[in-house]
Amino acid sequence: MSLVTCPGILLRSHPYSESSRILRFLTPGHGIVSLVGRGVRKRGSQGKGAPDTFGRGTLVFSHRSDRDLHTLRDFTPRGAALGLGRDLRRFYGASVIAELLLVHTLEEEDATLFDWVSEVLDRLGTAPIEEIPGWTLSGAWRTLAQLGFPPELERCVQCAGPVGREQEGELDRFDVSAGGLRCPACSSGTALPRIGPVARTHLSGLVRGEPIHPLPHGSSHLNLLEGFALHHVAGRQGFRSIPILKELMEKEAPAGSDQERM
Ligand SMILES: [Zn+2]
Repeated sequence: MSLVTCPGILLRSHPYSESSRILRFLTPGHGIVSLVGRGVRKRGSQGKGAPDTFGRGTLVFSHRSDRDLHTLRDFTPRGAALGLGRDLRRFYGASVIAELLLVHTLEEEDATLFDWVSEVLDRLGTAPIEEIPGWTLSGAWRTLAQLGFPPELERCVQCAGPVGREQEGELDRFDVSAGGLRCPACSSGTALPRIGPVARTHLSGLVRGEPIHPLPHGSSHLNLLEGFALHHVAGRQGFRSIPILKELMEKEAPAGSDQERM
């Protein structure tokens, strides 16, 4: 058993017993760790304070290499609480990123991913509200790419030919199961979602971690992300936060007839 001190972001916590919680933290050096926090069952109760979801700080935990569940010894929050609780879109945007991370059971060291998730949570907490869709989608796509699931946007997943050009009025289509774009020739007869050249450029930027503000067709982008993530990382498990966020975004900007072509 060794004592580990490292930065951590709380992705999720749930009750474990009368007086304990299971806390799942993203760390730069140990991937996602599951910790039992004894005496953190109730907020404001005696003993250690329960960290807030998406709270960041310094973790101290007892690590046992033969176990999946370790023991939280201490958590010191860093800085003021984020502004994620100010608006449901901010909170569910952060939840999308957390869900993608949690279905993947990351165990390896990945400081780049940790820094990226930290930055996205900062932005989701502080950016103007109209930038939330861009940060959510960019946060999610780059997280998937960093986990080893980048969508193929440079060449056709079927024939390896060029994509990103309109051919005889036909557009590329996004093939979720094949993991990327199909050129117009390989798309004929399919009902896959069409991706115009501008949407492809936007999607490439999102995957590189470059958000677009305002992001056109935000809820279509969420559909694409959901289909891709369900197929490649989550199996049949499903994501709770994506449909909620889609509803919140559609309420804001009622979807027109743009569902088919982005
Ligand atoms: Zn093709």
